[in-house]
Amino acid sequence: MSARVAVIGGGAAGMAAALSVIEEGAEAVLFEKGTALGGILNQCIHNGFGLTYFKEELTGPEFAERLASRVRESRIDVRLETAVISVSKELVVTYENPKGSASEMFDAIVYTSGSLERSAGAIALPGERPSGILTAGQAQLYLNHYGYLPGKNVFILGSGDIGLIMARRLTLEGAKVLGVAELCPYPNGLNRNIVQCLEDFGIPLYLSHTVTKAYGRKRLGAIELSEVGEDRRPIPGTGVKIACDTLVLSIGLMPLLSLLRPLGLKKNRSGQIEVDDSFMSSLPGLFLAGNALHVHDLVDNVALEAEAAGREAARFALGKRERGDRHLLAKAGEGIGYLIPGLIEEGGEESVLFRFRSARPNKDCYIEFFQGDKTIKKIRKPTVIPSEMEFVRIPKKLLDFNQETTIEVRLCPLS
Ligand SMILES: Cc1cc2nc3c(=O)[nH]c(=O)nc-3n(C[C@H](O)[C@H](O)[C@H](O)COP(=O)(O)OP(=O)(O)OC[C@H]3O[C@@H](n4cnc5c(N)ncnc54)[C@H](O)[C@@H]3O)c2cc1C
Repeated sequence: MSARVAVIGGGAAGMAAALSVIEEGAEAVLFEKGTALGGILNQCIHNGFGLTYFKEELTGPEFAERLASRVRESRIDVRLETAVISVSKELVVTYENPKGSASEMFDAIVYTSGSLERSAGAIALPGERPSGILTAGQAQLYLNHYGYLPGKNVFILGSGDIGLIMARRLTLEGAKVLGVAELCPYPNGLNRNIVQCLEDFGIPLYLSHTVTKAYGRKRLGAIELSEVGEDRRPIPGTGVKIACDTLVLSIGLMPLLSLLRPLGLKKNRSGQIEVDDSFMSSLPGLFLAGNALHVHDLVDNVALEAEAAGREAARFALGKRERGDRHLLAKAGEGIGYLIPGLIEEGGEESVLFRFRSARPNKDCYIEFFQGDKTIKKIRKPTVIPSEMEFVRIPKKLLDFNQETTIEVRLCPLS
């Protein structure tokens, strides 16, 4: 029997990973708990997807369908309505579907389960819990999938891309969006979304503000909006009451890792699962990609990353992984929020594509990669912002595998 790879999650990452598993010559089983492939893309009916991957501007469902049709035409074993409920250290996958539950052992696993939205509980929002408080993804699902307008007078907390896109969408569907509040002194979404979703519609953005109270018994009646100080805590006495019937929370996504918790995998300091430059975690044979590894802004990058992870998982399963014994650690230094990968092995691909985000916005700066006191690469950047992922490719021949020093990336001022 040929080598078998399980891919857990049938969003963009899972489909791209499964396609490259079979291209590499292994068998792929794609588990998706929903009734269709596509994941979050199916509810993102705006355009802005696919410019790099398909060289065309597509809506979310169109992007999903392009990949799904390739999957349907392939020999990938797609299991819809099948939720994986556990993964063991021996790479045994246990799943449930309408017929019951079962377990199967695989030669490798690619974990592409996507991400979770932070909810009101995550920020301990004070006040009542009436209806009308929902996450941006829930609002998007009601509106785009079921055709329900979740409210008429809406306030949005958080300037992440989903919140910005929902501000425009709700406005176009007839709701009044009263404003967007952002805790940070800078917006957290892509610049194009600030312009196209807020400024074009005259929706105010309140930077360094947060919602400090929700009022209402059955249905939300108002919120209290307060200024925050440099420590990001509300400044007493600045609260203003704003009447609204809906509060949409767009306060961030986090990788959905509940299934992997019992495995005790190594994590980086941002809480992401640490992977090497082949996307393999500290459990040999378990690979991660897409929003389950780190939250992406663009699906094109998700698909490209997942293709690489699928290819590497297939090579591992087929016993074709050619790696040396030596490795180097890599970490995020001054001014960098996180860095992927956290480990670089000798051998394999000739170069490493580092993915990272700055910890805060910066202008006129350098991104510098160094090992010990040697600079490996220095790139001048006019601006960096946390909402836009950075990519830097470094040939492995520039890294010194004889030294046990860590590769570090940091942001430094121009002078
Ligand atoms: C509102 C919004 C707007 C966006 N706008 C843009 C844009 O304009 N342009 C752009 O390029 N990108 C955009 N993105 C980003 C992009 O859509 C996502 O980064 C990408 O689609 C994530 O893909 P994924 O496969 O990692 O995760 P998901 O799409 O979340 O897929 C994960 C899949 O795993 C399944 N799953 C989870 N757990 C299990 C389990 N235990 N067993 C079986 N299946 C499981 C889920 O059901 C889901 O189908 C947007 C995202 C959002 C949310």
